[in-house]
Amino acid sequence: MSREFIYSALPMRVVFGAGSLRQVPAEVAALGLSRVLVISGPRQEAVAKQVFASLGSRAAGILPTAREHVPAATAAAACELAASLGADGCVAVGGGSSIGLGKAIAKELGLPVVAVPTTYAGSEMTPVWGLTTDGVKRTGRDPRVLPVSVVYDPELTVSMPTELSVTSGFNAIAHAVEGLYAPDASPIVSLMAEEGARALVTALPAVVRDGHDLDARAEAQHGAWLCGAVLGATTMSLHHKLCHALGGTLGLPHSATHTVVLPHVLAFNAPFAAPAVAALGRAFGTDDPARYLWDLADSLGAPGSLCELGMAFTDIDRIADAVTASPYANPRPAGREVVAALLRSAWEGALG
Ligand code: NAD
Repeated sequence: MSREFIYSALPMRVVFGAGSLRQVPAEVAALGLSRVLVISGPRQEAVAKQVFASLGSRAAGILPTAREHVPAATAAAACELAASLGADGCVAVGGGSSIGLGKAIAKELGLPVVAVPTTYAGSEMTPVWGLTTDGVKRTGRDPRVLPVSVVYDPELTVSMPTELSVTSGFNAIAHAVEGLYAPDASPIVSLMAEEGARALVTALPAVVRDGHDLDARAEAQHGAWLCGAVLGATTMSLHHKLCHALGGTLGLPHSATHTVVLPHVLAFNAPFAAPAVAALGRAFGTDDPARYLWDLADSLGAPGSLCELGMAFTDIDRIADAVTASPYANPRPAGREVVAALLRSAWEGALG
């Protein structure tokens, strides 16, 4: 097989391990930051306060207002606060929503972000930003929004409810799946995808059995790191495009939407993505990775249909139109009718 690829490594600094939250002040100091804004969502405010206190005189303020899909008004208010405080950097504590708000500040004001992820979403490993205005989510790439340091502390993921642990893990697996068949896939990224997906499907059942199992939490976070790095290095395809439209337009919950949609898109793409299916087969120990993910999600109690997530059947056409309005990458051509059919299967919760 002839191989041609371009691989451009993203700069990444990772501090990994139980208790590594204590390393945040050292990371901030090493970056020479002296007036840091600590960002979180409302549910992570206690950890944000802990980080704020640990930063001492290097902490300038705290902002616990992060929300899913980064509403433009929330981002504008955060930028205003950062500017008024004279902040020279941010520490974003939380899931993709908190890190997304940190990225919005980085994009607007050029401030470096230290990320402390508490879910498996992977945003901390990507130069991808998102902003939602009037129900329309725009995303783009900008190297300035890539966090300059990422502190992974599995202890911070223990508080994730079981359902979020599972769906967030599936969100990460989706990055691996689409990275494996991306038009700009490359050998090292594919290795990360395979190992990331393997780690997550191994760890998630153990996490569901015992959410306090720190070894399982660390294994899941190791997988999330790799899958996030895959997302940061490759072009997203139909699956991510569908989930962005469903989340940005209908406000469906991000990680649960990924969990429901992924087996449908993978089953559709599988005949056109043999190397990806082979890699996932090795990672999962199966020759049908779409069915495997479907069964795993079901056995771990994840939501099984877009209907269950609150989507109205009548919204299918709107989403199919939004997804196909502009071109996107995908190994298998998928026009408007195909996308609508995939959405109908995912809405019903029936894997072909
Ligand atoms: P989230 O950050 O919205 O968190 C979901 C909920 O869980 C929130 O209420 C949050 O406060 C809570 N939570 C988070 N961590 C917790 C913990 N450890 N314990 C208890 N509760 C916790 O969810 P997410 O799935 O991490 O992120 C979704 C957002 O991130 C979306 O807007 C998505 O588009 C974005 N995202 C962006 C990228 C990127 O590369 N730009 C990648 C993945 C996700």
